[in-house]
Amino acid sequence: MAVPQNRTTRSRRNMRRAHDALVAANPNECSNCGELKRPHHVCPSCGHYDSKEVVAMTREVDVDEDAA
Ligand SMILES: [Zn+2]
Repeated sequence: MAVPQNRTTRSRRNMRRAHDALVAANPNECSNCGELKRPHHVCPSCGHYDSKEVVAMTREVDVDEDAA
């Protein structure tokens, strides 16, 4: 089994992890409904992409309404 010849120092380990930070999402506004959506993705709230409806959206079901 391969075994590291040298111990990775705290410094080297931390330098390696310097690039591991998560970057924040970069949402932009849907041109149809104005909701924030991911760029180059179909809008999850209205199903539009490039001002055209590409995914037919079903009527939203209210969970509380069903329980009553
Ligand atoms: Zn939308």
